[in-house]
Amino acid sequence: MLTYQQALETVLRTLSPLPAEELPLPEALGRALARDVVAGWDMPPADNSAMDGFAFAHASLALRDELQVAGTARAGGGFAQKVSVGAAVKIMTGAPLPEGCDTVVALEDVVEDAGRIRPRKPVKKGDHVRYRGEEFREGEELLKEGTTLRAGEIGLLASAGVARVQVYRQPRVALLTTGDELVDLGVRPGPGQIVNSNLYLISARLREEGCTVWPLAIASDQRGALTERLAQGLEADLLLTTGGVSMGDYDLVQSCLNDLGFQLGFWKVAIKPGKPVLFGTVKGTPVFGLPGNPAAAAATFQLFVRPALRRLAGYRDPLAPHCRAILTARVHGGGSRQCFLWGRIDEEQGRYLFTPASRQSSGQNRGMQQAQALLAVPAHSPDLHRGDEVEVMLLYLPQGNFRGPGAIGVDNRQPSLDE
Ligand code: AMP
Ligand code: MG
Repeated sequence: MLTYQQALETVLRTLSPLPAEELPLPEALGRALARDVVAGWDMPPADNSAMDGFAFAHASLALRDELQVAGTARAGGGFAQKVSVGAAVKIMTGAPLPEGCDTVVALEDVVEDAGRIRPRKPVKKGDHVRYRGEEFREGEELLKEGTTLRAGEIGLLASAGVARVQVYRQPRVALLTTGDELVDLGVRPGPGQIVNSNLYLISARLREEGCTVWPLAIASDQRGALTERLAQGLEADLLLTTGGVSMGDYDLVQSCLNDLGFQLGFWKVAIKPGKPVLFGTVKGTPVFGLPGNPAAAAATFQLFVRPALRRLAGYRDPLAPHCRAILTARVHGGGSRQCFLWGRIDEEQGRYLFTPASRQSSGQNRGMQQAQALLAVPAHSPDLHRGDEVEVMLLYLPQGNFRGPGAIGVDNRQPSLDE
């Protein structure tokens, strides 16, 4: 059986970014750039003042203590004449530096009296001047292909006059939930039935990742219907299924995919939960068969699908961030597969604490509520103890909940790894 690392490498090797699309800058928030972007002009466009104050030639101060105020330079306007030696111009932040000036003194650092000003403290030549092109020059590379556009990048590109950008397309993901026992939310399950919670769980994760979700109607465990639905889902950029990939008599997803020309990447990975996860392509379209158990579906989503989505959407780093954290409860090792445990992250005095959820059963949704991270416990690992430092994979950024000093050890519950 493949290890997690080997299986993940298979996914990343198989996939490449979707084609680019051009978007108006504001709509590109959260996307990855598909091209390098260069500045269309110098920024600032001209030497200008960094403060509200007075502009003048620094050499004037060598000649006299007081300068005559000759007028005002506003942002968006300026000052039409050359400023002569011995004179100053009142200037607003962002106004172009008038001709003849090389220095600005801040309003709060002058004594102003009867149309004359006197600096209260020594002034250096060039004080409070922002020079043309000091932020960036026309033609200079501002951002590289693969960069995620967040607020800071959007602001930078706007300042450079970049109104439209080439970004990678976000995948449109077909989501097919399978199982004769499933009923839609809003229907009270009859005997032997359960609500199709995976649809909501995985749709929510896809939306959190910025994808467009295309939910397909529940597929029954019946070859004809299942194959038809799978074929439909292959119209998307990526097809996700849940259920029907284990060893049961009605686990038909792989064999129906085979009828459609499935190229197997892998089936089964040495992880817990999520061992039966299936990956491959049909005519180039990637397909993941996630296990039906909710926590197994969510774990394999995090471990394989999320990196795949990020690779398709062109992000430079498809892998989730990790951080170091202190374990607040004992964790049993010794399993034959690599285990992934859901847990909460709290911040305490500048360090993170990881508290494993008390329920880790793959059949439950409950262990995932409030979960912010996954702890990987290697196969055949010794037990891990309260107070051990571990590295965890972050699903969500910690909220910085402060639990007070001495919080380690408050939670003595031991997670049960039994399924
Ligand atoms: P399977 O992988 O099809 O053998 O399903 C494994 C377990 O997950 C069974 O208990 C199913 O009832 C449950 N399950 C399968 N699909 C879903 C779903 N869409 N929502 C909630 N539970 C599911
Ligand atoms: Mg099933």
